[in-house]
Amino acid sequence: MKKQLELSKLHVSIEDKEIIKGISLTVKPGEIHAIMGPNGSGKSTTAATLAGHPDYSVTSGDMILDGESLLDASPDERAQLGLFLAFQYPVEVPGVKVQNFLRHAHQARFADKPKKQFEKVIDFRKHLKALAAELQINPELLSRGLNEGFSGGEKKQLEILQMAVLEPKYAILDETDSGLDIDAIKKVSAGVTKVAKKHKTGVLVITHYKRILEYLKPDHVHVMVKGKIVKSGGPELVDKLESEGYKDWRGEEA
Ligand code: ADP
Ligand code: MG
Repeated sequence: MKKQLELSKLHVSIEDKEIIKGISLTVKPGEIHAIMGPNGSGKSTTAATLAGHPDYSVTSGDMILDGESLLDASPDERAQLGLFLAFQYPVEVPGVKVQNFLRHAHQARFADKPKKQFEKVIDFRKHLKALAAELQINPELLSRGLNEGFSGGEKKQLEILQMAVLEPKYAILDETDSGLDIDAIKKVSAGVTKVAKKHKTGVLVITHYKRILEYLKPDHVHVMVKGKIVKSGGPELVDKLESEGYKDWRGEEA
């Protein structure tokens, strides 16, 4: 069994319209990959398909996590296998406290790993506080409603705290930098880097902008246009895109 998250010749449709047109990509433990591309190119569709969103149907190809196909796995089973997704627009759930939400997420993630579970609520809370301290996240957020009245930066910090709690093998971060100021981007990037190092997480970061990549430092960069990966390379691709945009590929036939 190969330890990697592999997208293999993946085709995805929404209501009979093909959005993803055969992408292949392999993320190994500890690697950081970036997907860049213009609006509407299918980046969020790729993330939602990995998450198991019911509206997106895989018409051919496969997604394989450490040897197991994700195609028939429910979103919960995907989380148990060690897949984590942070979305562009985190949801607000005012009635649910952050610490309770994270406790349930932790229980679901490690349902089949008794050694990773906390018997007492208070022990989980201690663990959570320690993680928040490590990531320099205000502990007061933990007893508030989920994302209730959180600033954009706080919402993204919470996503990273969730990542720390879930210890994922692979993490997909969709536009985690959108709407953040430079200090928030630095903090979130430092948090992702710390968690990814600790757990050897393979990270796939989806972004429009170069800024977050100055801090997250991807090993591999992929350009997605119109549902295809049109170019893959090293970090130097980021500068080329920033200066030249996507004009080389926009005219390409889909
Ligand atoms: P990106 O994240 O790269 O900006 P998306 O993956 O969000 O792009 O969108 C890719 C294409 O799929 C767009 O043309 C978008 O309109 C279409 N699309 C995405 N989600 C849906 C949906 N739920 N229903 C219909 N079309 C969709
Ligand atoms: Mg998107």
